[in-house]
Amino acid sequence: MPRIGVVAMDALTWLFYLVPALVLLLWHARRRRRLERISIAAQEKTGAAEPASIHPAINPTRCIGCKSCIKACPEQAHHDVLGLVGGRAVLVSPGDCIGHGACKTACPVNAITLVFGSERRGVDIPVVTPHFESSVPGMFIAGELGGMGLIRNALEQGRQAMESIATRRSGGAAANGTLDVLIVGAGPAGFAATLTAKMKGMRYVTIEQESLGGAVFQYPRGKLVMTAPANVPLLGKVNFRQTSKEALLQFWVDAEKKTDIKINYKERVEDIARNGDTFTVKTSKATYQTRSVLLAIGRRGTPRKLGVPGEEMSKVVYRLIDPEQYAGQEVLVVGGGDSALEAAASIAEAGSKGVVLSYRGAEFDRAKARNRERIQSAASNGKMKVLMKSNIKQIDDKAVAIEHEGSTVSVDNDAVIVSAGGVLPSEFLKRIGINVETKRGQE
Ligand SMILES: Cc1cc2nc3c(=O)[nH]c(=O)nc-3n(C[C@H](O)[C@H](O)[C@H](O)COP(=O)(O)OP(=O)(O)OC[C@H]3O[C@@H](n4cnc5c(N)ncnc54)[C@H](O)[C@@H]3O)c2cc1C
Repeated sequence: MPRIGVVAMDALTWLFYLVPALVLLLWHARRRRRLERISIAAQEKTGAAEPASIHPAINPTRCIGCKSCIKACPEQAHHDVLGLVGGRAVLVSPGDCIGHGACKTACPVNAITLVFGSERRGVDIPVVTPHFESSVPGMFIAGELGGMGLIRNALEQGRQAMESIATRRSGGAAANGTLDVLIVGAGPAGFAATLTAKMKGMRYVTIEQESLGGAVFQYPRGKLVMTAPANVPLLGKVNFRQTSKEALLQFWVDAEKKTDIKINYKERVEDIARNGDTFTVKTSKATYQTRSVLLAIGRRGTPRKLGVPGEEMSKVVYRLIDPEQYAGQEVLVVGGGDSALEAAASIAEAGSKGVVLSYRGAEFDRAKARNRERIQSAASNGKMKVLMKSNIKQIDDKAVAIEHEGSTVSVDNDAVIVSAGGVLPSEFLKRIGINVETKRGQE
């Protein structure tokens, strides 16, 4: 073949490979730039939020920005939990990380460690033995409170902790009226522990301040739940991998009926004191004597109450689950932090008849700028009324009495959401004498 022809062939071959490679490279660069933009926006939106439990710490000098961790995170479908900033993976929305740990497994260069707390905010992890016993003999801890999140871990630990507690009965039966164990919390850990206690014929009482399911009950409507099969006492192997919040809760409600376990709902454990060989447990409704206590209270705390007449009505709740359930209703939101502002704004945006936001402070100085803007915009659109320096006096069936600027006003009302902070589990643990270790970004 003449020389010119050979050169032309070579150039054509080059073009054949080079053009698609360039197109691919450009496409890839655009996607990365877009991901970086989304990641920075997510970071700005979530601001100073801190992860509630175990979460990834990413070593930027090791990270190669390959995005494997981002692709592996099961929560990524709902929130931008991990993102790419400056070519490196970053935990952009720490408050949405629930500690699946899939990112660590997926990282090809070992740049990820799973840690508790951060330099800015320490997380108190109770010190427990391998049998789940705390520094107070006879008081056990299972589930997310001990540091390990996730439904399957909580189910497993609830069962194992109760098996340890059952061995304490070898010293003889408990005195009349004294329980073998009092279980605090009916989330996945408390639920599995209750089933184990029932299976072993123990004298138990399970106390739950809210309802069955623990944190699962608080998930947004329709949330896709990623979990793994677990062995649940009296039910056998439960094969859930991917399910919805509603299906999982229904499964637990059916299991509660089928196994005939008894859980005391709407009762809160307020104090636990050692009394010789036993514990005296004070709740919002009664006092119990028990040989052992299992704390399965998770890490989300006990919401603070207002302490006003009418607060016991079913229209009063302490967490917003689904803003759309308030469409067409008149809603009062109480509080001035981010969760109160987010709740009020999303209810107003979801088509409620009207929202009143009541806060006893003079300014929303603890809330993020973005949330303050949402409140301002809802107020200027007439969708919300904001009452600063106000106090709730009484809740009635169809109205609420609010003290504001020296007089008491009556506001029409269908539902009340109290978002006034809460008592953190670490405060409770310290009060009842359990040793905790404060972790600041450590494994
Ligand atoms: C938004 C979100 C999404 C999640 N998604 C997933 C997921 O897809 N897959 C997964 O595996 N995990 C997920 N998790 C994590 C999982 O829900 C928790 O790890 C798990 O529920 C922990 O179980 P637990 O029983 O230890 O505690 P919790 O579920 O928190 O239950 C604790 C219970 O104790 C009660 N309680 C607390 N204090 C008291 C008291 N003083 N008296 C009486 N009762 C009390 C509480 O009311 C609560 O019901 C998610 C968590 C959140 C917040």
